[in-house]
Amino acid sequence: MIYNDTQQEIANKIETTSQANNWKDWRWQLRNTIKNLEQFERLTGIQFNAAERTDLKKTFEKFPLSITPYYLSLIDKTDYKNNPVFKQAFGGIEELSVLNTDMSDPLSEDKDSPVEGITHRYPDRVLFHVSNICAMYCRHCTRKRKVGDKDHIPSTSQLKKGIEYIAQNKQVRDVLLSGGDPFMLPDDKIDWLLSELKRIPHIEVIRIGTRMPVVLPYRITDNLVKTLKKYQPLWINTHFNHPNEITTSAMEALTKLADGGFPLGNQSVLLAGVNDCPKIMRTLLHQLVQNRVRPYYLYQCDLSEGLSHFRTPIGKGIEIMESLIGHTSGFARPTYVIDAPGGGGKIPVMPNYIISWSTNKVILRNYEGVITTYKEPDNYEQKTCNQACDNCNLELSLNKKDESEAIGIEKLLSDSSSVISLIPENNERVQRRSNSK
Ligand SMILES: *Cc1c(COP(=O)(O)O)cnc(C)c1O
Repeated sequence: MIYNDTQQEIANKIETTSQANNWKDWRWQLRNTIKNLEQFERLTGIQFNAAERTDLKKTFEKFPLSITPYYLSLIDKTDYKNNPVFKQAFGGIEELSVLNTDMSDPLSEDKDSPVEGITHRYPDRVLFHVSNICAMYCRHCTRKRKVGDKDHIPSTSQLKKGIEYIAQNKQVRDVLLSGGDPFMLPDDKIDWLLSELKRIPHIEVIRIGTRMPVVLPYRITDNLVKTLKKYQPLWINTHFNHPNEITTSAMEALTKLADGGFPLGNQSVLLAGVNDCPKIMRTLLHQLVQNRVRPYYLYQCDLSEGLSHFRTPIGKGIEIMESLIGHTSGFARPTYVIDAPGGGGKIPVMPNYIISWSTNKVILRNYEGVITTYKEPDNYEQKTCNQACDNCNLELSLNKKDESEAIGIEKLLSDSSSVISLIPENNERVQRRSNSK
């Protein structure tokens, strides 16, 4: 059950006695991941010169290599240097150039971590790192310095600490399992973890972020789907970056998951030389929706160390969004986000559509450049909201705890708070005021 000659050739080189054809066995794929330069050269036939070999070895000492035979088989050997799969999987010396604006933890995931494995950044949801390893180490990984350095899967007692934190924090209604790749855990461990989370009454949804459909689609087995099905509502997000990744095997994995009843999303990273082109991006998005995957986020590449060669200006992302909004189905278009350096969370950015404004008219432009006027209501009755939901006629019955106070910009917009400005700590102008008192 091999799809093409390249795959047959790689399989034969891995196992000369290839009578037992294990290509579609995910454990076989994991046992045979390509972890060093020699294996890569032998399996692909690509040869590097002495200088290149020295550079590559240095690179892999700092950022480990791991490529599944399946993902390796997607590399076009005749033009590998320009190949989007090669660029995501293999890397090079440019990863060792660290700019002084690069950071080892740009999103401050560690600072926002109350217990090991949990990042609690937003009020109602947490990120739970349940595995430190992946089938393939993406060269553009934002957790590049961490993933793979302790090549292990957290112990049950470590995971229990995270579960305990979630159980004690009633405002958490959404748990996002990430890693590493959660599907590196064996099925019974996933079963146990999900059952523990499911038991917590305030958890409304669980999400899993995995790159398995892209780098090791055979991991999506019937048994995995059967296990996951017990824990609906379960949302699954994957990470396709280029149309070349949507293969027959990947489509089969996506079909299994979609048929299993899981809403599927995709998070791409905007990568120079891989997908920084409106046409590539549009092709990818169209193929995703054909496979019942809803594009969720397009990420601006983070400021992690070793990623500078992948970064594009933000203008490239805006240009891509401009080419999508209005030009293609609304559900085929992701939200373009910049994950705030320092840990502010995701900030959506897009082209401007509001051109001007008066007290009763808004001037907008559409994707074609047509400028239009929206006449606002003359008699909209602005009710003051004092957050007393019991007296409101919108018939929303809330628990007391749901009437939580607004924060941030939401607070500035609300009628129930007297706060009129948000001032950064250590603002010099404000400090002068208190000094002169
Ligand atoms: C991305 C992220 C989430 C989930 O954010 P959504 O916008 O709800 O998808 C949660 N926690 C952390 C730390 C994140 O980085």
